[in-house]
Amino acid sequence: MKFNCMHCKTLLSIHSTEVGSIVNCPKCGNLVEVPTITPTPAPSISADTEKLAVCLTDLITETEQGNKTMRDIHLMLAFGLGLFIVVLAIYVADSILQLF
Ligand SMILES: [Zn+2]
Repeated sequence: MKFNCMHCKTLLSIHSTEVGSIVNCPKCGNLVEVPTITPTPAPSISADTEKLAVCLTDLITETEQGNKTMRDIHLMLAFGLGLFIVVLAIYVADSILQLF
């Protein structure tokens, strides 16, 4: 298990059999009581939070790109429909003009 030294906050790694015992911190040399309940080490928390933040940012970016693609498709469809109407109108007008 891993825990932080209460004196210098160094991440210490000890055997689970040493839980509840008092060990010497290799960094600051102070006696440290090994906690029975493992507090999640602070560096690991921030790393996980950073990973989560990166994941969320990626997700948001992907969603934005997806929305943009959908907008582009809608724009193309609208443009195609508009072009079709214009061509149809010209064809109809031409047909009507040829009647006279
Ligand atoms: Zn220490």
